[in-house]
Amino acid sequence: MQRVERALSKDEILKLRRKHFCPAQSISYANTDPLLILRGEGSYLYDEAGNSYLDTRNNVCHVGHSHPRVARAVAQQVEQLNTNTRYLHPNLCLLAKRLTETFPTGSGLEVCFFVNSGSEANDLATRLAFARSRSRNIIVVDHGYHGHTQQTIEISPYKFDHKGGEGAKPNIFKVPCPDTFRGPHRGEDAGERYAADVAAACKRAGSVAAFFVESGMSVGGVILPPPGYLQSAYQSVRHAGGVCVADEVQVGFGRFGDYFWAFEQQGVTPDIVTMGKPFGNGMPLAAVVTTKEVSDAFHNGLEYFNTFGGNPVCCAAGLAVLDIIREEKLQAHAAEVGGVLRRRLAELAQRHRWIGDVRGQGLFIGIEFVRDRDTLEPATAETSDICSRMKDEHKILMSIDGPHDNVLVMKPPMCFSQADAESMLNA
Ligand code: PLP
Repeated sequence: MQRVERALSKDEILKLRRKHFCPAQSISYANTDPLLILRGEGSYLYDEAGNSYLDTRNNVCHVGHSHPRVARAVAQQVEQLNTNTRYLHPNLCLLAKRLTETFPTGSGLEVCFFVNSGSEANDLATRLAFARSRSRNIIVVDHGYHGHTQQTIEISPYKFDHKGGEGAKPNIFKVPCPDTFRGPHRGEDAGERYAADVAAACKRAGSVAAFFVESGMSVGGVILPPPGYLQSAYQSVRHAGGVCVADEVQVGFGRFGDYFWAFEQQGVTPDIVTMGKPFGNGMPLAAVVTTKEVSDAFHNGLEYFNTFGGNPVCCAAGLAVLDIIREEKLQAHAAEVGGVLRRRLAELAQRHRWIGDVRGQGLFIGIEFVRDRDTLEPATAETSDICSRMKDEHKILMSIDGPHDNVLVMKPPMCFSQADAESMLNA
């Protein structure tokens, strides 16, 4: 059969966007910026006119856009078997083995659930926590982000065997964001003081099912937990009967350079780890990894099913990603390039009063702009202007995050080179 193809003009594509998509639907930057991106390679994206853009905002294609090895692994698998069968497939079991080998020895993190997105992973983590506790109290960190789904079980009259899953509305207890630049606690004991807020929340709650925390907050504005924070906070949560959930969706898989998982930096072991974004390098692959104790509690009366999670194609991508991170030594590379970049940005900050703070770890970097270093008045409009100019004048894509929209965030592919870093600094 002959395929009929017709290239659409940019105007036609924009018309389709306006007609068929709700403006609220985040085809993220298309509302304000009708860039048409057709190709990706390494750290670069290419538009329809062939212009190249240095991509520091993506945080999905960790090993580089359209890495040929991931593409090959996916193509080969599609030709063999392209769906879940609900029977076993070697990719699924091999990926579970390889993934759990990335956790520190003795962590007990050995049981995997494969899903399709970070939101689904966190949703499932909530259910795991509820299965092992009568408490419905969940502690979350202010400005934290864990996903976008509603609890679809609540709207599903057909029940799998959800004993214990019904009526599972969480009671949320919010603790302050452990921000040592803008928040109330600063200095050497900030970690302990923010952890005391978690201890106080546990006390208020009485009992706790779970504590959700990003091991490095991304949309919250690149906030790294201050030293000692996770250790002490985890202790309080466990004392109150809860599990500690490390959301590694943004910061896992070696982005922190020296650590494969960001929580390792604080010397803690979570009970549940959720991950997504870079796992499949663009293929929808996410996971929840937990201990036998948590999974046993869940198994006792609950069944878990999802159609696409852990399908052989996405697992093939995940296996290739794990190989590439190791073989191309991307962690060491992220530590080195990220270290130089942060040092150079810190030097810039000494010369420009409106750079209030430069922070991060590995290739996870935030630059916070302020109008005044004493009042810390956020330079929101200026940050937006800088971001636009980086794109329009220098063809460098950056994102803006933080509660005041004044933090430029860099989370480039981990193959981001020293030369890429130089172009960004010069711009
Ligand atoms: N957790 C964190 C920390 C995130 O930043 C995100 C998305 O940005 C999610 C979870 C949700 O992931 P997804 O968009 O894959 O559902």
